Amino acid sequence: MSPQPQNIHTTFNRLLQREDKEAMLNQKGMVVWMTGLSGSGKTTIAVELEKLLARKGVLTQVLDGDNIRSGINSNLGFSDEDRTENIRRIAEVSKLFVNCGVVTLNCFVSPTKAIRQQAKNILGDDMVEVFINTSFEECEKRDVKGLYAKARAGEIKNFTGLDAPFEAPENPFLNIETVGRSVEECAKQIFDAVLPLIRK
Ligand code: ADP
Repeated sequence: MSPQPQNIHTTFNRLLQREDKEAMLNQKGMVVWMTGLSGSGKTTIAVELEKLLARKGVLTQVLDGDNIRSGINSNLGFSDEDRTENIRRIAEVSKLFVNCGVVTLNCFVSPTKAIRQQAKNILGDDMVEVFINTSFEECEKRDVKGLYAKARAGEIKNFTGLDAPFEAPENPFLNIETVGRSVEECAKQIFDAVLPLIRK
């Protein structure tokens, strides 16, 4: 870690504490980290999950490629170094939300164990890993964004599941199978498991 410049004085000990904010919101902050192939259903399920939680008065923030890669990480590409930095920033941003008592719903392919471990190192027990378990064949069939066709045609290199690895989590907090199930059913499965952690 680089040393802090002399002129920066942290204000952490003068700020309202996380517990105070969680008490205000009547919820515990946490990160629901969804991992899975492109098109597996992470964002679709997060949107539905957010609705279910909102009905219970839980304040959430969905983080996904759309709001992260177009904003705070717009200067990052897909080299190994940039992927590492991408996840580091996502985890640090999530941590700020969690310290405000917010529940973040993170939708990132996060394809390797090392990448997810990197997030876990920053977030610790505040993060649970949810595997959106949809086969490559099914994702290719859905091809929501036309990316699979492009990757097959060789227009996208290092495409996860095709010519870049996807390492399924071995021991996720939840394993959500999406094939043959509705979005609502999948979101409800996550909702039932996380609500007791949010409202202890
Ligand atoms: P990701 O965020 O993982 O890249 P998306 O949420 O953008 O994936 O796309 C998932 C697609 O799969 C959507 O078109 C969605 O309607 C479809 N789908 C079919 N069944 C399910 C399910 N059970 N859960 C989530 N998505 C599903």
